[in-house]
Amino acid sequence: MKRLWSPWRLEYLKAPKKDGCIFCEAVQSNQDRENLVLWRGERAFLILNRFPYNNGHLMVVPYTHVPSLEDLDTPTLTELMLLLNRSLAALRTAMQPDGFNIGANLGHAAGAGIEDHVHLHVVPRWSGDTNFMPIVGDVRVIPQTWLQTYDQLKAALEEQARPEA
Ligand SMILES: [Zn+2]
Repeated sequence: MKRLWSPWRLEYLKAPKKDGCIFCEAVQSNQDRENLVLWRGERAFLILNRFPYNNGHLMVVPYTHVPSLEDLDTPTLTELMLLLNRSLAALRTAMQPDGFNIGANLGHAAGAGIEDHVHLHVVPRWSGDTNFMPIVGDVRVIPQTWLQTYDQLKAALEEQARPEA
């Protein structure tokens, strides 16, 4: 996946590195809204990226703390894809994007921020958002706060999961 410029990524790069894994910590905590955990499946979960490339940028993450996709068993890989689909549908409902970037950065050399715990990125794209590629020095204003985005996506996911009446 092409790496995209977002000034708030700098905050991430500058943030002090904590020990431990933010994914494992988020799973173990029960503060889902605070941690931006959108959905918990059987073997994997969805979490909103706090340092997004674009509004609505979320991640599909297995509960298993392993560095690469080859380390996962078939049921977990299957659920990653099913949750990926669920997140696409929720993003379409909640945010009406025109497209998506989906991808994984495996290993430090590939730009993985959290290289020990594999995850898939889902980044919604809108026609005309290409100006979010390099404009050095321009601070982009994110149109919604994390929690507004969280609440919208959470509602869309819950709506989707409701059994047909
Ligand atoms: Zn982990």
